[in-house]
Amino acid sequence: MSKECSIVRDLLPLYIEDMVSADTGEFVKEHLDGCEACRGEYARMRLPQKRKENRDAKENKEAVAPLIALQRKLGRKKVQTVLCTVLFVVALFVSAFAVLSTPVYIPYDEGLFTITENEDESVTIVFDERVTDYECSSDAHIGWVGVEPCYEIEAWSTLWNKWIVKKDRQFVVIHKVTGEDFSVYYASNDGSENVCVYGEPVTDGGVVTLPRLTLSYYFMIAAVGTVVLLAVWGMVRKKTAVKVWVERILFYPISYCVAHVIVEGFGSSTYSAGRDFMLIIFLSILIYGGVLLARSIYRERKEIKALTERNE
Ligand SMILES: [Zn+2]
Repeated sequence: MSKECSIVRDLLPLYIEDMVSADTGEFVKEHLDGCEACRGEYARMRLPQKRKENRDAKENKEAVAPLIALQRKLGRKKVQTVLCTVLFVVALFVSAFAVLSTPVYIPYDEGLFTITENEDESVTIVFDERVTDYECSSDAHIGWVGVEPCYEIEAWSTLWNKWIVKKDRQFVVIHKVTGEDFSVYYASNDGSENVCVYGEPVTDGGVVTLPRLTLSYYFMIAAVGTVVLLAVWGMVRKKTAVKVWVERILFYPISYCVAHVIVEGFGSSTYSAGRDFMLIIFLSILIYGGVLLARSIYRERKEIKALTERNE
């Protein structure tokens, strides 16, 4: 070993700790570049140092990990809170719209509309200003088919159209399609008989348009589903993983029932089943999403609390 080598070896511990002057550092580095033996010694001496550095980095990481997890949870909670609020606000607006746009059917009276026959044998029916919407369907009753074409009219108003979106005067033109004479009935939708307002009456007895009961069946299915799922929930209460899933499913029929009550009130027979059903489905999905998010936020909050306490 040369004299320079032994000097460098003496300096190596200081060099590794970075405790030499710039000039000395330069000298050692130059020597190491040119001397394999000293380079080997240098590598061997640095090994424990390196291990220690790695260990420190790892310990540091472990100390920081809960903080990062906490930060992530806080971020997620924030996003979920915003989303949840948005869903409930939209649900509130949809509920308000559902209530305001509920059709209030107008029972028949003499002044409700005027009927004029046109030259092309069509008929124009002009409603008075109480009417904001109407529906004109043909062959509404199977018993009437084949006798002669028959139209059924129903007319209603909504608070929405009265207060918020004003509508022009409503009218309908009915054409002679098959060349046969036709008759027009008005359905008051209040349990009273439909009135023949144009053409020859096609039946001897009275016909009453009945409310559709479909929605009450759906409501019953949702209610029964809720009860069954509640029973299942009671049975699996101790198995956390299953319980979480049962809860997730259980919230839907509950949301459906709530949406039904908002749209229909506590009555369940309706003359506008299609409209009501769409609104109930839409509203129930909004409520369901909001409830799931609220539940997730609640759990996140608990976890954040636990993490904070552990860090203190
Ligand atoms: Zn050397």
